[in-house]
Amino acid sequence: MKKTLVFKVSPKNPDVKIIREAADIIRKGGLVAFPTETVYGLGADALNAEAVLALFKAKRRPLDNPPIVHVGRFEDVYKLVREIPAKADILMKTFWPGPLTLVFKRSSIVPNVTVAGLDTIAVRMPKHNVALALIRESGCPIAAPSANLAGRPSPTAAEHVLEDLDGRIDAVLDAGPTRIGVESTVLDMTVHPPQILRPGGTPLEALEGIVGKVELHPVAVAEKRLPVERARSPGMKHRHYAPKAKLIVVEGELSAVVKKITELVKRYREQNMKVGVLATDETANLYGADVVKSLGSRSHLDVVARNLFRLLREFDVEGVNIIIAEGVPTQGLGLAIMNRLRKASGYRIVKARI
Ligand code: AMP
Ligand code: MG
Repeated sequence: MKKTLVFKVSPKNPDVKIIREAADIIRKGGLVAFPTETVYGLGADALNAEAVLALFKAKRRPLDNPPIVHVGRFEDVYKLVREIPAKADILMKTFWPGPLTLVFKRSSIVPNVTVAGLDTIAVRMPKHNVALALIRESGCPIAAPSANLAGRPSPTAAEHVLEDLDGRIDAVLDAGPTRIGVESTVLDMTVHPPQILRPGGTPLEALEGIVGKVELHPVAVAEKRLPVERARSPGMKHRHYAPKAKLIVVEGELSAVVKKITELVKRYREQNMKVGVLATDETANLYGADVVKSLGSRSHLDVVARNLFRLLREFDVEGVNIIIAEGVPTQGLGLAIMNRLRKASGYRIVKARI
């Protein structure tokens, strides 16, 4: 057990002395959790195989699920990849820094452990002053998966990082809650047309507006458990985002969803279970469950995304036996939200019909 240092930093103007201290830890092969605009990441020097191995261990992450490599400058991508396809170049110029991860053919300087033995590498430039300052000051690309124990909801605040990783990592930079709240979109640029392997903070519609047709990998939709070819996106097959209680997602037209959830609440309460409902502002007062939490208004999916992981963790604290969550439409950010909810449920998905 090590002592995990907690550094409070301003999200806009991080103190240079603190960033230097954290960068020093990274350069020496240590592990530092830091905020990005999506969720908190757990960083290690991406070119130091031992440091990356320690990162997998700290998270208890399966070794076949590679992290995203974060860069602080455009030119830092070149040495990590073999080529940058023209469409990738346009996407980088349009969406970086931001919640878009691009998968490229990787160069030989990247250690095998960093890419889990794959021939590809996932790269992104985060839009957060603390993340950018840390990467630039470290002078190396930073491998950073989400800073949670494998399988748990991703951390959107430093407190969540400490819940999972206190004593297992060297430091955390605490700059308050993150803005977007779901992870980046992972887009494979090694195939034509480009294919979304994980929906996230950059919507499909926004990508298509720039480069035309973009495909959606069936596993990215996460409507049911599917067999996955290992080579494409290893992370797809692992259990994800799960709160401690069993989670059920109810999808469909809103009035049918409310009716179905009301039925389920009644049924589980009759079995003496403590029942939680993950609702929205439009519906939260319609449920007679033990605990009802609202993700925000259905007309502001950015707010729903921002609250999602925090509320899943809050249900753990409430000690409910079961959580029933409302689905949202899969347009825009809704696709990323539903991917997280469906996976968190272990694909316990109920389709509600009138
Ligand atoms: P996390 O770091 O926890 O946000 O998860 C990173 C995601 O990126 C996982 O879903 C990985 O499977 C995916 N990923 C990382 N590297 C690659 C790669 N080379 N090819 C495809 N997907 C990748
Ligand atoms: Mg993760």
